[in-house]
Amino acid sequence: MRLKDKVIIVTGGARGMGASHVKKLAGEGAKVVITDILEEEGARIAKDLGKNAMFIKQDVTDIADWKHVVEKTEETFGPVNVLVNNAGIDVPEQDLDNYSEETYLKVIAVNQHSVFYGMKYVVPSMKKAGGGSIVNISSLAGIIGAYKKIAYTASKFAVRGMTKAAAKELGEFGIRVNSIHPGFIRTPMTEHLINDELVQMFPLRREGHPEEVSDLVVFLASDESSYCTGAEFVIDGGMNA
Ligand code: NAP
Repeated sequence: MRLKDKVIIVTGGARGMGASHVKKLAGEGAKVVITDILEEEGARIAKDLGKNAMFIKQDVTDIADWKHVVEKTEETFGPVNVLVNNAGIDVPEQDLDNYSEETYLKVIAVNQHSVFYGMKYVVPSMKKAGGGSIVNISSLAGIIGAYKKIAYTASKFAVRGMTKAAAKELGEFGIRVNSIHPGFIRTPMTEHLINDELVQMFPLRREGHPEEVSDLVVFLASDESSYCTGAEFVIDGGMNA
């Protein structure tokens, strides 16, 4: 019970890594709010987890949705202790000279603006709680550029940068802010990209699994990481070594 009674919001919690985080966090005693645009899957996970979990439908690019999520969380479980900004999208490789402006703006809105909104709207609640931990899910593409993925790379570098700026500002309130940078983790977002040839390029010779990232999320959400803030946690099987 490393997270007993901590109130935690996980965005994009209905599938992939988010769903794995939700289950591990709840298993450590947290009260978890799952948000996603995938209503059916999110509601099912919350039901399976019982009274310490709740699903709220949320589009992370929508400011009104963010206000609603924080209000409803406080009303149901109390002030927010932890926010996991996990929701994100990827798009297929595209040549820069043909890259659609619409796609660029969409990726930036979902992956980057959402993290700004999430931090902005949750901080007053964390101040009420006397501190907190914000875990921003970036990517290895927030450390090194991803081939033909200009928008994804831009958004994930931005998440890494905003994490550091927010950590500097929020430290005095006992709010820690860190980023996680996964390499290839097997989820619905990446399973079509992972193959035997690819994984031979990684020192550990395999892709990662969502539960391995969830262990890191639990650590950063818990008081075990009490002196970690403004840091980037790479979890990539050695790909970036
Ligand atoms: P995933 O399986 O696609 O899960 C992402 C979840 O976010 C989905 O349920 C998705 O719903 C939801 N979502 C998308 N747009 C949203 C919006 N506007 N509002 C609310 N929810 C929204 O992806 P994942 O692989 O678990 O990725 C989770 C995070 O890790 C993402 O930020 C991703 O960029 C990052 N990441 C993943 C990897 C990897 O190898 N998998 C590596 C590095 C970083 P829909 O299915 O409807 O889109």
